[in-house]
Amino acid sequence: MSYSALRIFKEAITGHKGWKPVWRKPEPKPHYDIIIIGGGGHGLATAHYLASQFEQKSIAVLEKGWVGGGNVGRNTTIIRSNYGLHENEAFYEFSLKLWEGLEQDVNYNAMVSQRGVMNLYHSDAQRDAYVRRGNAMIMHGADAVLLDQDGVRKTYPFLNYDNARFPIQGALWQPRGGTVRHDAVAWGYAHAADKRGVDVIENCEVTGFDIVDGRCVGVQTTRGKIGAGKVGVAVAGNSSRVMAMANMRLPMESHVLQAFVSEGLKPIIPGVLTYGAGHFYVSQSDKGGLVFGGDIDGYNSYAQRGNLPVVEDVCEGGMSLMPMIGKARMLRMWGGIMDMSMDGSPIIDRTHIDGLYFNGGWCYGGFKATPASGYCFAHLLATDTPHDTAKHYRLDRFARGLMIDEKGQGAQPNLH
Ligand SMILES: Cc1cc2nc3c(=O)[nH]c(=O)nc-3n(C[C@H](O)[C@H](O)[C@H](O)COP(=O)(O)OP(=O)(O)OC[C@H]3O[C@@H](n4cnc5c(N)ncnc54)[C@H](O)[C@@H]3O)c2cc1C
Repeated sequence: MSYSALRIFKEAITGHKGWKPVWRKPEPKPHYDIIIIGGGGHGLATAHYLASQFEQKSIAVLEKGWVGGGNVGRNTTIIRSNYGLHENEAFYEFSLKLWEGLEQDVNYNAMVSQRGVMNLYHSDAQRDAYVRRGNAMIMHGADAVLLDQDGVRKTYPFLNYDNARFPIQGALWQPRGGTVRHDAVAWGYAHAADKRGVDVIENCEVTGFDIVDGRCVGVQTTRGKIGAGKVGVAVAGNSSRVMAMANMRLPMESHVLQAFVSEGLKPIIPGVLTYGAGHFYVSQSDKGGLVFGGDIDGYNSYAQRGNLPVVEDVCEGGMSLMPMIGKARMLRMWGGIMDMSMDGSPIIDRTHIDGLYFNGGWCYGGFKATPASGYCFAHLLATDTPHDTAKHYRLDRFARGLMIDEKGQGAQPNLH
């Protein structure tokens, strides 16, 4: 089924009887050329690009829960390509370009909104770091604008400029950054992949790998064994658990990250704003809720819920940036499991087991990576060679000392 303005008009005058499910509910087949484990954004995007760009015909996505139930439907919806290291910037700029054409590509309204991302700076040193980062972005064909305090005031006159402990001096602004309705991304990719014959199989948990003579030839699932020519793992926060079934120990930890939504308010925040002196980021949804978040909870967990100390910490960040947020009531909050790599950068690579490929380590920032991650993982699965923009995301970089440490803070599971 295709979506169009004409279709909406036709359904409106015929009682909405013609809408069909956005994707089928197929039974698993005994064998596929390629199996993707994980029906989150990255797994579904991989399946879509395998079918649409790499002419693969026999593909299944196996999801233990439901499409959109993982981090793809739990994040704070921010997209951007504002990185300083060339290993990251080329990849995230590729992703932003794919976002710009996503809705036409998958024929689904994902509410891609390039409303701009503003990172505030509060000291001369932070400004200088942002200048370097902005120049790196521009050199990779991305957009970046350095604003002084007056430049920020034009868009956000209500911030705490003068009496704050960390006065706002200006911002690095990426006008092409913004937000995308997160769960619609999963639905859109599922819809597009399904249309090209991909089996998106929900309620199908992978419980083991079939590895024969060093080659992965299929998976065991709660719905039986399924054979495969190649298996790609894209399970985000569950990466360590799933790869442990192949006897692999990953250089990453799983942590909880929480997101928060306030009651609906009149339009006040036109873009995405991040606080440079603490960990706080905020945007406003089209329904009026302030969507915000901060730091990870800071302990290892596979629970999709967080704890109160971080709620307090995030709200303190919001209060110091814009004290009037204290009057808004919190409506909802939830948590997701983050696959925190030790240098804050992801992995898209083959493993030492033939036919088994891995995609993970997305930390807090994997939503904006969804299109490029899917494209590059599809490239790797289909051609057995890395895509040019993802060639540095190797699994062995930790052993070889080639970390991609954007913050330059050394190995720790709280980078992104
Ligand atoms: C609160 C929060 C805020 C965030 N904010 C942002 C943001 O603003 N911008 C940004 O870029 N990123 C953000 N992120 C990060 C981003 O959401 C993730 O990095 C990204 O969504 C991970 O990839 P995914 O969509 O494929 O993951 P998921 O949607 O989690 O997909 C993985 C899937 O694998 C499935 N799975 C696991 N084990 C198995 C198994 N054994 N068998 C079958 N299936 C299995 C899971 O059920 C899940 O559906 C945020 C994350 C959270 C939690």
